[in-house]
Amino acid sequence: MVARSFPRMRRLDIEIAWGAEEDLLYYAPLGARYEIRVNERLRGAPRRAIEGGLAHELCHIEADMRLGRVQKRLAWERYLRSERFEMREERAVERRVIELGWGAELLAFVRYARRLGCQFGRENGLLYGEIWRENARASFARL
Ligand SMILES: [Zn+2]
Repeated sequence: MVARSFPRMRRLDIEIAWGAEEDLLYYAPLGARYEIRVNERLRGAPRRAIEGGLAHELCHIEADMRLGRVQKRLAWERYLRSERFEMREERAVERRVIELGWGAELLAFVRYARRLGCQFGRENGLLYGEIWRENARASFARL
């Protein structure tokens, strides 16, 4: 996945493991490294759904990479403080997921998350219908 869609991240040290508790997935920068944690509740999820969730987190890391150390810290503080900023960030990340060609996987992830009882609003990213429409548009553009 990283090699296909995030070639610039190939040399990054990203550790992916089970272990998120509140969220289904999250990522965190640890010095020069990154960790992505995946909730055990996704163990039974289809591969596509997990890929959709991972694509979302990898797009966050990709966006982070463009920031310097201080900028990155400021962005994190803003993200935690401002819901508007969080929403803008999440929605931009999902547009990038679609642009990179992982829209179908993202849809599979949202469907599976719903089955687990998770509710997603605009603060979490695009709504299901928006992902669907933008993905259809992007797929046409690629034909
Ligand atoms: Zn996110």
